[in-house]
Amino acid sequence: MNTELSELNPISDGIEDRLGRSPDAIPRILILGGTGEAAELAAQLASRNDLEFISSFAGRVSCPKYPIGVVRVGGFGGIEGLISYLIMESISVVVDATHPFAVGISRNTEAACARLGLPLVALVRPTWQKQKDDLWHEVITYVDAAEFVNKKRGRVFLSIGRQEVGSFAACNDAWFLIRAIEAPTGQLPQHHEILLQRGPFDLKGELQLLRDYSIDHIVSKNSGGSGTYTKIEAARLLQIPVVMVERPTKHTVPTVDTVGEVVTELAELLTRPVQDEKQWKDVK
Ligand code: NAP
Repeated sequence: MNTELSELNPISDGIEDRLGRSPDAIPRILILGGTGEAAELAAQLASRNDLEFISSFAGRVSCPKYPIGVVRVGGFGGIEGLISYLIMESISVVVDATHPFAVGISRNTEAACARLGLPLVALVRPTWQKQKDDLWHEVITYVDAAEFVNKKRGRVFLSIGRQEVGSFAACNDAWFLIRAIEAPTGQLPQHHEILLQRGPFDLKGELQLLRDYSIDHIVSKNSGGSGTYTKIEAARLLQIPVVMVERPTKHTVPTVDTVGEVVTELAELLTRPVQDEKQWKDVK
């Protein structure tokens, strides 16, 4: 849908803001989720009676674990669809708490918020940092990772989720243990086993897994966070090399690292007068 903002939100006398809310309306927050941090934020905001929030999911997995509160599922339909949604739901602030490798939704969100002059709080958890005993081989793309492990011809623990497994489809010289929440579709490498599991994973279990499958290499995204870090710790302890796919750049706006910082930023944003659009824009 291509909705002209001016058609929907005539700003009349400065009493309403550009999304048509009166100053005493309860602020409505859209949390773009799919991460533990987004769920944690929802849990923290659930007890507040001075705001409302909606958690949004792409709908990638068939048995999702939804956070507390109101949830919507499915893509918005690109930038225009997102703009329409933000207007329709009278959203006051968007919190982008999507995964560090989910680039498309973040770019669309930046564009939509910029067009509406809507505050955006972008949460990106810090990257994992290489420790002294880590054996990391850092790569930019999944294709680089695939070429590297195929040349090594060993047994590979592919722990990147299911969306990018196709990049390893032509790796005929290595064997793969593919772990994902749901079975990957599309082309898979010739020699593989699929392990359907959902994190978080504990260190003891990860050590056992790496030993049981005699793993020679791990392929991981540098996702950050604690939920899947135990495989990196286990690799360090067993001195197994990790092929680490570096993060894409997904934000052009300043970001915060933690849920606590999001809550602080929301508190500041929500106490500003809504009719002063310039202030809202300056926050980005
Ligand atoms: P993506 O490439 O950035 O997004 C592709 C499209 O999916 C977006 O353009 C949007 O569709 C829709 N979408 C994504 N996140 C959404 C959300 N929270 N609410 C509504 N629609 C959303 O994302 P992705 O890498 O496919 O990841 C999809 C979701 O899984 C993300 O929300 C992310 O947080 C979560 N996740 C991703 C990874 C990963 O490694 N990529 C890992 C764990 C969790 P429209 O254009 O139609 O709006």
